[in-house]
Amino acid sequence: EVERGMETEKKGMFDWYFKSNLLIRILIGLVLGAIVGLVAGNSILWVRPLGDIFIRLLKMIVTPIILTTLVVGSASISPAELGKVGVKIVIYYLFTSAVAVAVGLVMGNIFRPGLGLDLGSIGEAAGKALEKPSLANTFLNIIPTNPFASLSGGDVLQIIFFAILFGLGISYLKISKDSRIREAGELLFKIFDGSAEAMYKIVGWVLQYAPIGVFALISVVFAQQGAKAIGPLWGVTLACFLGYILHLIVIYGGALSLYKLSFSTFLKGSKEAMITAFVTRSSGGTLPITMRNADENLGIAKNVYSFTLPLGATVNMDGTAIYQGVCALFIGFAVGLPLNFSQQLTVILTAVLASIGTAGVPGAGAIMLLLVLDSIGLPIEQGSPVAAAYAMILGIDAILDMGRTCLNVTGDLVGSAIVAKTENLLDLSKWGK
Ligand code: ASP
Repeated sequence: EVERGMETEKKGMFDWYFKSNLLIRILIGLVLGAIVGLVAGNSILWVRPLGDIFIRLLKMIVTPIILTTLVVGSASISPAELGKVGVKIVIYYLFTSAVAVAVGLVMGNIFRPGLGLDLGSIGEAAGKALEKPSLANTFLNIIPTNPFASLSGGDVLQIIFFAILFGLGISYLKISKDSRIREAGELLFKIFDGSAEAMYKIVGWVLQYAPIGVFALISVVFAQQGAKAIGPLWGVTLACFLGYILHLIVIYGGALSLYKLSFSTFLKGSKEAMITAFVTRSSGGTLPITMRNADENLGIAKNVYSFTLPLGATVNMDGTAIYQGVCALFIGFAVGLPLNFSQQLTVILTAVLASIGTAGVPGAGAIMLLLVLDSIGLPIEQGSPVAAAYAMILGIDAILDMGRTCLNVTGDLVGSAIVAKTENLLDLSKWGK
């Protein structure tokens, strides 16, 4: 009765919206947003709240979905298996990040963005003292002192740590000889399982709003930064985006085919997550969609993706690594101190670390770039040419961030699919096998 009521309600005014293909609607929002933003400029900024609605809806479900899915995931896998998945995914994340910086450096060396830029003239105009992030404490910080504070603060690594232990605890309750304990464990498992499923329902509804949110988010960015990205900073934009595309096709496409997984099936299954990452510029915010794609389209087992995706959204940032490689070179060229070979090797090391330390939120990669610049002797000092070059990049950061976040999220999904395949935890029927 209730269901039928909802059905009839849907028929009518908004039929053309809900009955048309969701992805096409999202793509229309994307393209239209970019065009309207470029053409209308600042007069379109009033749509900003429509984009904020989308971001807030996504953020609303991130913490509940990580907690519930990961508790269920780790309650249904043996600790040994979880360990194997963990080791494999960490190796994959580290390796692909290092390759990504190298891709960024290659792109930067080919296009040489910033070469011949005369920064003396704008040197004083830009640059402010910025606080440098520190990589210390990161490891200790994974252990929460108060898991409830981690949940309310949305600290993903701490939530992962606690949820895995909690899930493992439940898995032991479920095999207890004491029937009281066993039943309690089963009940708890069901509660988390049901909660996770309910969250996925919400994700589906949020996706229905995505086309409007996507339009608003994209048009605001293009209104504010579009002209600059195709103007004086064209070289940086080009080098970054070609790097992202190269990494996507060669590294991800290659890695998938190495494990006999079809690249086109992968792209088809991941596109909602990729587009959402592109427009929200937040790996963390995209997580609900990423997890849904992994589950429904790619057939990755819950006990793999529930762990690898939140982890990846926090530490695995190939797009950010590429961006940092390109930008380090840009700044070197722009201030007339091109990076030599050993400086570029240093960039590989520090950019991998910096990308790990980058939070999955908009613009975080630009802050961590300071760390990379520091390591090659180009610290940001007030009024210096380095600060001016840095400020130029900041001016188009949102555009660069779109591409890098999209690649960041894609890399997490590729790694999860591969690890699941090697553990026989991938539903191959979703891959046409
Ligand atoms: N916005 C990126 C992400 O969420 C991080 C970055 O700024 O590089 O993945």
